[in-house]
Amino acid sequence: MDVLDILRAVYEHSLDGIVITDADTVIQDCNPAYARLCGYTREELIGRKTNVVRSGLTPRWVFEQMWRSLHETGRWVGELINRRKDGSLWVSFLSITRIDDAEGRVRAYVGIARDITERRRLEEQLQAQSTRLDALLDAMVSGVLMFDNDDRCVVANGRMTEILGVGQEALIGQPRSRLAERMRHLFREPEVLTAPTETGRRCLTTREEPPRHFTEYWAPVATAEGVVLGRLFTFRDVTREAEIDRMKSEFIATVSHELRTPMTSVKGALGLLLAGAAGEVTPAQRELLTIALNNTDRLIRLINDVLDLSRIEAGRMELHRQPVQVAAAVRSALQELEVYRVQRQIEVATEIPPDLPPVYADPDRLGQVLVNLLGNAFKFSDPGGRVTVRARTEEGMVRVEVSDTGPGIPPEDLERIFERFYRVSGPTSRKGGTGLGLAICRAIVQEHGGRIWAESRLGEGSTFIFTLPIAQAPPGNQAAGPGESPGQPAGGTVSGGG
Ligand code: ADP
Repeated sequence: MDVLDILRAVYEHSLDGIVITDADTVIQDCNPAYARLCGYTREELIGRKTNVVRSGLTPRWVFEQMWRSLHETGRWVGELINRRKDGSLWVSFLSITRIDDAEGRVRAYVGIARDITERRRLEEQLQAQSTRLDALLDAMVSGVLMFDNDDRCVVANGRMTEILGVGQEALIGQPRSRLAERMRHLFREPEVLTAPTETGRRCLTTREEPPRHFTEYWAPVATAEGVVLGRLFTFRDVTREAEIDRMKSEFIATVSHELRTPMTSVKGALGLLLAGAAGEVTPAQRELLTIALNNTDRLIRLINDVLDLSRIEAGRMELHRQPVQVAAAVRSALQELEVYRVQRQIEVATEIPPDLPPVYADPDRLGQVLVNLLGNAFKFSDPGGRVTVRARTEEGMVRVEVSDTGPGIPPEDLERIFERFYRVSGPTSRKGGTGLGLAICRAIVQEHGGRIWAESRLGEGSTFIFTLPIAQAPPGNQAAGPGESPGQPAGGTVSGGG
C-alpha cells in the first residue's frame, strides 16, 4: 500500500480544510476543501498570508495564545472567526501543527479547519433560550419544581427557593421523597408533593400562625410528540384570595340572611290577602296576588340557595354527621317530591341493595343533595320519562347514581353545570331554577369528603353520581365517635374532575 498516495487522496477529498504555510504564514498550498471554506480559489490563496481570511472579530488574546502555544509546544487548537471573500463570516475550528526542519527551524505550519458556524449558532440559541427560560421561571409568582422520570428534581425556580427558604443547590438533583419530607415541615398536609392522579390540585396550609394558604398543582411534562419528560409541581400562594373569598361569602351570607326575614313576612301577608283576611278578593286581584306569591316563593328559594352556598363557602356549614341509610334518605326525598313527580308524569325506580352499608353523613344535607338531583331529573325529563336511583359500594365509598331519560347534557357543559348560576343554554334553560342547585350539591358532597360529577350523552339522558364515605361499624366498645376513627376520609383534597 502506498501511504503517500492515500494521504494525497485524503488531502484532495477531505471535508476538512487543510492549509500549509511557511514560517511567515504565507500560504504554500491548500486543499480544495480549505479553498471552498474560505470562498477563494486555491490560486488566489497561494502566496497570500493567512490573515487574508481574518475577520478582525476574533479576540486578540486568541492569537497571542496561539503563537505562544505554537512556539512552546508546536501545536494549537482553537476557534477563529474568519471572513470569506464575499464578506460573510464563518467560525473555524482550527488545529495547527508546526513542522520543523533538521536544524529545528520552522519549515511549515499545517492547519486543519472545520466550519462550526452552524453548531455555534445553535449553541448560542440554546444558551439564550435557557437564559430566557431561567429568567421567566424566576419571574413567576408560583413556586415551580420539575422532576425527571427518575423522580429527581431538575428545575426549581427562585420563588420555590423562597417558599422553602433554601438555595437552589439544595433542591436540584434531590429525589422527590427527600423534598416531600422537607415540605412536610412547612405544610400540614402529609400528602404534599405526591401525585395520585395524572393532573390535579390540592389545597395546602402552612404550619405557621397565622397560616398561609397555597394551591399545589401537578401535571406531567411531555414533548409535542408525547414523550413524557417528567412531572411538574407548582405552588401558588392564595392566602389573600382565600381571605377575600371568605369575606365575600360572609358578606353574601349576611345580606341574604337579612333579605330572608322581610321576604318571609311579604309571603305571609300575601297568603293572608289571598285567604281573604283583609276582605273579599276579586278574581282579577287573586290572579295578581298569586303571581306575586309565586315570585315571592321563587325569591325565597333563591335567597335560601345563596345563603346555603355562601355559608358552605365561608366554612360555616356545620355538618351533623351520623350513619345514614341511603335507601331511607332516597325514600324521604322522593316523598318530598311526590306531588311534583306526579305532575311531571315521571316513573321512578330504585335499585339499592338491602345490605348497602350506611354512609357517614348529615341526613339533612344528604336529603338536600338527593332532592336537588331528583328534582332536576324530574324537571328536565319529558312526561313519561323514567328516573332510576342506584347505589352500591365502590372503593371504600358508597356510590349513588341518579339517572334520567331527559335531554342529556353536552360534553363541554358536564363540568361547568356545577358552577354557580351556570345553566346549559337551549331548551333546559327555560325550565326555571336558580342555577345554584348543583353548586350546592358539590359543596355539600365535597364537605363530606366525597365527589360528585355528571355523565351524559346528548339525547340519551344524564346520570349524576356522587360518593360518600361509608360509616364505620362502631369499633367494639371503644369510645371514639365515628368522626375520630382513623377510617374516616378527610376532606380537602380536590383532584381530577371531582
Ligand atoms: P337549576 O336546575 O336551578 O337551573 P342546577 O345547578 O341544579 O340549577 O343545574 C344547572 C344546570 O344543569 C341546569 O340549568 C341544566 O341546564 C343542567 N342540568 C341539571 N340537571 C340536569 C338533568 N338531569 N338533565 C339535563 N340537564 C340538567
